[in-house]
Amino acid sequence: MKKLLAVALSLMLVLTSAAALADTLTMVTNASFPPYEFIGDNGEVTGIDAEIAAAIAAKLGYDLKIVDMEFDSLIPAVTSGKADFTMAGMTVTPEREQLVAFSDSYATGVQVIIVGEDSPITSADDLFVKDAGHTVGVQMATTGFIYASDEEADGKCVVSAYPNGNEAVMALANGKIDCVIIDSEPAKAYVAVTPGLKILETAYTVEDYAAAFAKNSELVASFNAAMAELIEDGTIPAIIAKYIPSEE
Ligand code: GLN
Repeated sequence: MKKLLAVALSLMLVLTSAAALADTLTMVTNASFPPYEFIGDNGEVTGIDAEIAAAIAAKLGYDLKIVDMEFDSLIPAVTSGKADFTMAGMTVTPEREQLVAFSDSYATGVQVIIVGEDSPITSADDLFVKDAGHTVGVQMATTGFIYASDEEADGKCVVSAYPNGNEAVMALANGKIDCVIIDSEPAKAYVAVTPGLKILETAYTVEDYAAAFAKNSELVASFNAAMAELIEDGTIPAIIAKYIPSEE
C-alpha cells in the first residue's frame, strides 16, 4: 500500500511538472543582434524576435522565457531539447535544415561589410584580394562566417571569428581587424552607435530568417498558423516597423 502511494505520488509529481513545463515556451537567442535581439534598458532581451515570439506564445496560450547564449550554441540547445525553439535572425540554410525544422520565414537580410570610414577598402572586390591578407571579423557559425571562410579557403582573406556581433564590431572599432561581415540590419544598428564606421554592399544573396525547432517538435504547425494570423492582422508588421521604420 505504501509503495502504491509512493508510485501514485511520484506520478502526480511528474504530471504536474510536465504541465508546468508545457505552459512555458523556452526560446534561446543571441542578444547581440540589434534590432532583432539585444539587451534593452531594463536588462531584458528585447527586439523584433523577442516581440514576435511573445505575440505568438501569447496567441498559443504559453508564457515565454528567453535565454541568451552564443549563436553557435543555439541549434544544439534546440536539438537537445533544452529549448523549445530559437529565434535569432537565423538564416534558413540547407545545412541547418539537416539539423532543425524551420518555421515559415518572417524577415529577410543580406550580408554587408562594415569598414572604418577612412578604409582603403571600398568594395568587396577591394577586400577579397589573393594574398592581400585583409582580416575579416565575423560571428562564429553564422552565414557571414561561412561566406568569409570560403574566401579564406581561396587565400583571399583571413577570418577572425568572434562569439558575437558586438565583439566583432568592437575589434573593428579598435583597429584590430579590417572589416566585419554581418547582416544588414545589425550592421546599421552598430554603425549608428559606433563612430567612424561605414557600410559597404556585398554580392551575397538575400537570406530568409525563420524560427528553428527540433525536428520532432509538434509546435511548428501551430507556431506557423499563429504567425500567419499575426502577419495578417498587422501585429508582426507593426513590430518590425517599430524597429525598422523604413520598412513601414
Ligand atoms: N543571419 C545570420 C545567420 O543565420 C546571422 C544571425 C546571427 O548572428 N544572429 O547565420
